[in-house]
Amino acid sequence: MIQNNYFLTNEDLREHFYELIDWNEIVPIYENNFSDSKLYESTQNPKLEMAPTNPDEAISYYEEILKSCGEISGMYVSQVASVVDTKGLKFENGDVVHPQEMVDVIQMYHDAGLGPAAFKRKYGGLGVPSIIKAMIAELMYRSDSSITIAVGSMGLAAILEVCASEEMKNEWIPKLISGNYTVTMGLSEPDFGSDLPNITTKAIQKDDGWYLTGTKRFQTVACGVNGGPGITLTLARTGSLESGARGLSFFIVENKNYVIQGIEKKLGIKASATCETVFENSKGYLVGKEGFGLVKYVMGMLNGARLSVSSQGTGIVTAAYEEALKYAKERFQFGKPIYEIPAVKKLLDRMERELAGMRCLMVEAAYSVDKYYWYEDGREVTAEENKTAKFWEKVANTLTPISKYYNSEMCNDLVYDGLQVLGGAGYTEDYDLSRLYRDARITNIYDGTTQIQVNAAIGGITSGMTQTGTFRAYLDHLAKGSESNQCLTEIRSVFESIVETYKSIPDQNTKESFSFEVVESAARLVVGLLLERSKNKSKSRKELRTKWCKEFHVDSLGILTANHIKLKSA
Ligand SMILES: Cc1cc2nc3c(=O)[nH]c(=O)nc-3n(C[C@H](O)[C@H](O)[C@H](O)COP(=O)(O)OP(=O)(O)OC[C@H]3O[C@@H](n4cnc5c(N)ncnc54)[C@H](O)[C@@H]3O)c2cc1C
Repeated sequence: MIQNNYFLTNEDLREHFYELIDWNEIVPIYENNFSDSKLYESTQNPKLEMAPTNPDEAISYYEEILKSCGEISGMYVSQVASVVDTKGLKFENGDVVHPQEMVDVIQMYHDAGLGPAAFKRKYGGLGVPSIIKAMIAELMYRSDSSITIAVGSMGLAAILEVCASEEMKNEWIPKLISGNYTVTMGLSEPDFGSDLPNITTKAIQKDDGWYLTGTKRFQTVACGVNGGPGITLTLARTGSLESGARGLSFFIVENKNYVIQGIEKKLGIKASATCETVFENSKGYLVGKEGFGLVKYVMGMLNGARLSVSSQGTGIVTAAYEEALKYAKERFQFGKPIYEIPAVKKLLDRMERELAGMRCLMVEAAYSVDKYYWYEDGREVTAEENKTAKFWEKVANTLTPISKYYNSEMCNDLVYDGLQVLGGAGYTEDYDLSRLYRDARITNIYDGTTQIQVNAAIGGITSGMTQTGTFRAYLDHLAKGSESNQCLTEIRSVFESIVETYKSIPDQNTKESFSFEVVESAARLVVGLLLERSKNKSKSRKELRTKWCKEFHVDSLGILTANHIKLKSA
């Protein structure tokens, strides 16, 4: 793979960081008027030592983190990705063995403090906003998915900051960070994947605490890394078998307390351990309140995971685009580099343009979370702030599944084209495209398939398009950031018709079968508006962005028009 600093050499990502994101808006909200630095002054708590004292310091702090992440990812991890994929994992006597090259680079990330990026500083994390977390994840995923999952899994436990008791947070979060724990999402079972309300793993309370029994399937890195510690955040039934979602609770279970039955042989992410785990009277620790496991805590954890997959899609496509572009400039056919052949250039131009759209969506989804999440931090808020936070929470609840679905589907679509640019070479294991192609395939399956994301987004879109609805208000807010534009106006008008046609379908099953077309149309409209806004804000690449917008909108108009025709046939 290309070897350089993946932050410093990524023009589009840098443009987001230096020109497109309004840090003066995000930083004061997120940093809560620099409360960590004030606390440091009074307590000298070393965990808060790096806390910024003003917006400029915050931006420099975020910038240094991205540079350091870009360095490790691009200079080191990228260079072992192929070796790690080829060596894969071994399962010996109940233990999972990861390749040494993987263990070494994981340690590099941990030494740079990037494992606990997601946590607040007071617990030992980096305390960075979701936008920065999204960028860190993109940089890491560009170099390799399996390695990133092993390091980044710790971020799943950020949900503990929201739902665990103070005592549990203080006990567990610093321990996870200092011990470089892996964290697994313990949801899927052999008979229940998408259908989480019906899972059967049981938790019973005894005199000395909770004990879990059951089998979990597809448990990513539940084994820990080569004997290292790990926990599974496990969904288990504390109510009766018929209690559905409300009978499910959330537990921490340590990997020393369950058995790894085996690992899956997979199409891609070959060095990511996908384990079957067996709980037999396994000691667990209840998180939060009984009965809130699925309806509140797992949903919160999945929101974070969805943002992460959105970054994974962006990172994989960045790798595919850059590797394909390099190859196209070096490979000669018919006496010229294939880059100059119109059909090949068209593939690459589309990859670049669509990738720019994916990155806009990734950043915007993270921004929508930053706009509300921190108001829940126990701080005092005015009625106006409360109203703003509620608005953005609703937007985030729709935008997060949209960004997971869209960026994972586009990831598959664009990596396919990237491989095509390399012709036969792309199909061999000599080039990275074949690995990226295999790794891309999981993105629209795990953490909720595309169909489940569509189910999660459709309500927010359709009910949000009433005259006073949140999604309409959000689209209007985005449109304010873009110049009036004939093609975009037409797209918006077709979108309005699509939503109306969808709502008028009488048969529920027929209607449900067309949800994808509505969500896809919403995604293309949102991404188009975001690209327009980025064009208006851009100082360094306005011309290129103008070209992207024009071509993106034409494609979108084609997609929406086709979707409308399909819906009218229902
Ligand atoms: C490599 C890998 C890693 C994973 N890591 C984890 C992990 O760490 N923790 C964890 O708990 N799980 C994990 N999973 C499980 C993953 O989240 C599930 O595979 C996924 O949610 C789908 O569930 P399923 O495989 O049971 O498919 P099913 O639920 O059986 O779905 C099969 C098909 O039916 C569709 N479908 C099902 N229900 C609906 C519906 N209501 N509406 C529309 N379509 C529907 C699906 O979209 C899919 O196309 C992992 C899976 C893999 C492959």
